[in-house]
Amino acid sequence: MDAAKPIRIDPRYSVTGSNYPLDAKQRELVQLAESLGPSFAARAERYDRDASFPFENYDDLRQAGLLGLCVPERFGGKGADLRTYAIVSATIGKYCGATALTFNMHACSTLWPGILADDLDMTEAQKKEHETHRAVHFERVVRQGAVYAQPFSEGSAAAAGKAPFGTLATKVEGGWSINGKKIFASLAGAAHYYGVLCTEDKPDRSMRDTLYMAVPGDAAGLTITGDWDPLGMRGTVSRTLLFKDVFVPDEAQMMPRGVYFQAASRWPHMFTTLSPTYFGIAIAAYEFTVKYLRGEIPGMPPVKRRMYPTKQIAVAEMYVKLEQTRALFLRMLDDARVDPPKDARLRAYAAQYTIMENANDLCRLAIRTCGGQSMLKSLPLERLYRDSRCGALMLPWTAELCLDRIGREALYEHGEVDD
Ligand SMILES: Cc1cc2nc3c(=O)[nH]c(=O)nc-3n(C[C@H](O)[C@H](O)[C@H](O)COP(=O)(O)OP(=O)(O)OC[C@H]3O[C@@H](n4cnc5c(N)ncnc54)[C@H](O)[C@@H]3O)c2cc1C
Repeated sequence: MDAAKPIRIDPRYSVTGSNYPLDAKQRELVQLAESLGPSFAARAERYDRDASFPFENYDDLRQAGLLGLCVPERFGGKGADLRTYAIVSATIGKYCGATALTFNMHACSTLWPGILADDLDMTEAQKKEHETHRAVHFERVVRQGAVYAQPFSEGSAAAAGKAPFGTLATKVEGGWSINGKKIFASLAGAAHYYGVLCTEDKPDRSMRDTLYMAVPGDAAGLTITGDWDPLGMRGTVSRTLLFKDVFVPDEAQMMPRGVYFQAASRWPHMFTTLSPTYFGIAIAAYEFTVKYLRGEIPGMPPVKRRMYPTKQIAVAEMYVKLEQTRALFLRMLDDARVDPPKDARLRAYAAQYTIMENANDLCRLAIRTCGGQSMLKSLPLERLYRDSRCGALMLPWTAELCLDRIGREALYEHGEVDD
């Protein structure tokens, strides 16, 4: 990117809006993401139609150094924290939902073992082990351009955080043997490594025994199965992975024993990282609607509709919803830290719920307001609508489970039971 010529970002359609305190690094990263955006948008229709993975977008991300976005600087990455990641991710989400959603899986594979893990308690031996292991993973990302996925879901209560994972890791000489199955594995066939959550195979195993292991895409015993022809987020290619006696060396551990469980308990905002994608989609739906009604969509007849009061009311309604969503999104990012107070945890659930539900609602309003011509496949709106529908389904913080947690945690303090 030519540093002398920054891209002019229209604040109305930016992630943070005007006058938000971004530091120099954040501004530079947003510029970088914006510079890639138009190419992502141009390719999005093809990936969606073919339900194929956006490899070219990943080449661009690699070239721009963004695969190392959340790798700490001392390991050669850009050192983005959760807030910086979220703003960059939402910027990508404005242009291609599937790229942003899969980029979430990759970026969090470095954010969690990186900056987040530094906040957690580890023994000196664990710290030493983690430092050695994560250096391997970060090196692959930064120097070799490797892409990591995060297949956690199994179709059981595990991905909702309510039961141990059924995929098992058995300790063997020099490493681990993995057996099990993961469903909805985004980046299936595209990732170089699959960061799998599994349970250590031992008596009386519980969620505390969760292990986070990077399995190479070409490992013996790993099979990718099932077709992929979903409603939305088609470019994520989220197929099924089967693991049969898959050996991985000790360095495959992305966090030491017990540390993933600690992260999930003490760093709850780690589960909000899917929402930036959908906030980006929400912005895109609003931007499309304004431009459509103003007759500014390229390739459309110059029919302006903005003079009708119903259109103005609809746009106002969308704007209010978008700003409500943005306010909670940014507040959630301000709150994100280890051991947040209870009110911040509940607000994170509320933010996730709001972003996922409002993104879909904004797309719904956009189609209703722009009308029949706007939902033709030649325009992005119907894809935004379908992609946005997936947000509320993402475990562990689905829209339903956010309500479930808010209701319970608002009415019960820790350890309280009814008589
Ligand atoms: C496009 C896309 C990409 C995805 N990519 C990935 C990925 O890369 N990695 C990954 O791990 N997963 C991924 N997922 C999976 C996703 O996170 C969910 O696991 C998946 O959608 C669950 O589908 P399900 O309906 O079978 O879930 P179910 O477990 O049947 O749950 C259905 C609904 O019931 C509710 N529910 C579930 N458990 C409970 C409970 N214990 N108590 C109360 N309510 C509950 C939830 O609201 C949930 O949405 C992806 C999903 C989609 C749609």
